[in-house]
Amino acid sequence: MYGRRNVVIIGSGPAGLTAALYAARANLTPLVIEGVEAGGQLMLTTAVENFPGFTDGIMGPDLMAAMRAQAERFGAEMVRGNVSKVDLSRAPFTITVDEGMVEARALIIATGASAKLLGLPSERRLMGHGVSTCATCDGFFFRGKPIAVIGGGDSALEEATFLTRFASHVTLIHRRDTLRASKIMQDKAFANPKISFAWDTEVLDVQDGGGGGVTGLALRNVKTQVESTLPVEGVFVAIGHEPNTSLFKGQLDMNAAGYLITQGGAKTNVHGVFACGDVQDHIYRQAITAAGSGCMAAIDAERYLEHLGH
Ligand code: NAP
Repeated sequence: MYGRRNVVIIGSGPAGLTAALYAARANLTPLVIEGVEAGGQLMLTTAVENFPGFTDGIMGPDLMAAMRAQAERFGAEMVRGNVSKVDLSRAPFTITVDEGMVEARALIIATGASAKLLGLPSERRLMGHGVSTCATCDGFFFRGKPIAVIGGGDSALEEATFLTRFASHVTLIHRRDTLRASKIMQDKAFANPKISFAWDTEVLDVQDGGGGGVTGLALRNVKTQVESTLPVEGVFVAIGHEPNTSLFKGQLDMNAAGYLITQGGAKTNVHGVFACGDVQDHIYRQAITAAGSGCMAAIDAERYLEHLGH
């Protein structure tokens, strides 16, 4: 359906779109398969203040729209599909996109990472009915209501701070008594009178009182084992992310957490397959580092194709 391409890029966050920009400018007319979460995690954020070049910050979706338009200007082609299967056993690699198929001489994987969940049945059942993983998407629904944010990293504190715009009160629930988040985020949250902290606390259950919408959380203090109930109408789970690598299991080398292993730039263990962004980075995970690694992947792919005599 899409024929044979020099470069196919799976994913359209900062890594995928930067790879697309560089591959397009190298005259490789890349095909970008955008995936179900087109634009990646920045589509779920508000202001991005640490992407260099924007003195006053830029909204996440605006930044992604600009990156997409820039890549398209040089000939990158975007497809809204979702990849269900890849065969990397020999080049050209075959990629199944919805009902279609594409062959890639070089493949760049930029599938990113997705929000982790606690794993409670009630959490899954009430997703979209009071449970959310995206404050910027769903915060508006909790105007004037008490809510909880779970986690102790930058994401949790950022979400908690953002949600105080809407919620009557935010309780941050963390399983330890010290936060993982950066000092600046901690200071901001500690100074916010609408945020309180439940330390050393785990969530046992998300309650709905039989009504199909969140009414509270069953909690347990992990030090004292004392159980309690926190009445809230919204729960934001912000406990980190996991890489979107299930398509590549058994085909590409991954670490124990499932992140793709890259070496010497963006190279995976399969010649002609490159990876960039959060799918291969469990340490930095920033838009700017993702974009930088997207550039590296495109340059590596270009050199690989040149070597093949493209
Ligand atoms: P993270 O740093 O991995 O933090 C995850 C938090 O969730 C930790 O506090 C962890 O607890 C807790 N947690 C994990 N699994 C849990 C479970 N099953 N039950 C209860 N709690 C659980 O993830 P993140 O906050 O998403 O941040 C990821 C990266 O993005 C970081 O590098 C961060 O700096 C970056 N980031 C930056 C910004 C910014 O600069 N504005 C904003 C957001 C994220 P423990 O602490 O006990 O492990």
